Amino acid sequence: MKRAATARLRPAALVHNLGIARRAAPRSRVMAVIKAEAYGHGLLRVADALAPHTDGFAVSCLEEAFALRNAGHALPLLALQGFRDGHELVHAARQGIAVAVHDPVQLRLLETTPLPRPVRVWLKLDSGMGRLGFPAEDAFVRLRALQNCANVATSPVLMTHLACADEPGRAENAAQLARFEAATRDLPGERSLANSAAILGLPRAHGDWNRPGILLYGASPMADGDARRHGLQPVMTLQAPLVAVHDLAPGDAVGYGATFRCRRPTRVGVVAIGYADGYPRHVPSGVPVCLPQGRAPLIGRVSMDLITIDLTDLPGAAVGDPVTLWGEGLPVEEVARAAETISYDLLCAVAGRVRVEEV
Ligand code: PLP
Repeated sequence: MKRAATARLRPAALVHNLGIARRAAPRSRVMAVIKAEAYGHGLLRVADALAPHTDGFAVSCLEEAFALRNAGHALPLLALQGFRDGHELVHAARQGIAVAVHDPVQLRLLETTPLPRPVRVWLKLDSGMGRLGFPAEDAFVRLRALQNCANVATSPVLMTHLACADEPGRAENAAQLARFEAATRDLPGERSLANSAAILGLPRAHGDWNRPGILLYGASPMADGDARRHGLQPVMTLQAPLVAVHDLAPGDAVGYGATFRCRRPTRVGVVAIGYADGYPRHVPSGVPVCLPQGRAPLIGRVSMDLITIDLTDLPGAAVGDPVTLWGEGLPVEEVARAAETISYDLLCAVAGRVRVEEV
């Protein structure tokens, strides 16, 4: 059963935001990152909206790529984690899905698995992230192995991922770029380095293919960012109705654990959303929500289906009013900062029981 909590999604904002990525890096093609159910916005819904505007889609695993192909998407697809076994590799080749190759086990599988046709490969190089990828200095050797492999189609794309692009001034960015450039200088093939933050803040990282994720959804990719400054528009506005309003006296407690005690006569509003909807449980009192009359702070603990807010300074607020948790009027990154997390975390966590409406 769907709940009153509703994620209002604006496909037009996706298209607008993708246009910002294109204008920031006009010579790069766009591999729109729609992994993790398109950061909680719905894989197929987002793919349908972006397909006429993007050059390809990147997803995390092959299951997501297969779902896109099954739904009829014919654009280039990239599985960022590549394949885990020969079975997946065969299906990737058959369905024309590019796979990231980041590990010697995958190289062995490429060399030994009979494929119906060659598979496209993106060679993942670690230039300082310390996560997936061959050490950048091995680029020549790994690329040669791939070029000699009959199962590999055309020239692999050389890719890397930046650890600190959300803080463009950090020395790690220049170090990663220098390491990648030095290791790949004389090698053939297209390049792909930039995530959202690098698209907006590190022009040197713009490659043949950029990989924007979070900016498509209208959240700032910068650590201290404000999406509006980049002209980004929120795609998701998460709302739930105010279902009760009551007055408490100084000293009265609110919610589990009685963690919040009223210091003044307090008008408490109860909103029909909780951690089972994806609203984060571990947020402190004070995180803002937005009503038609203005903003109000969360008070007390987040429950499974409900949160409580302080409406004392919003006397017009009434049962039935829509309460925005994030989105239009309340940037998700602002809520994320108050909740001591990142916008990605909030967006990806929206639960399946939340009603979805396209507007
Ligand atoms: N490229 C890779 C390899 C990623 O893992 C991600 C996301 O985590 C992205 C691109 C997109 O990053 P962002 O959402 O910060 O633009």
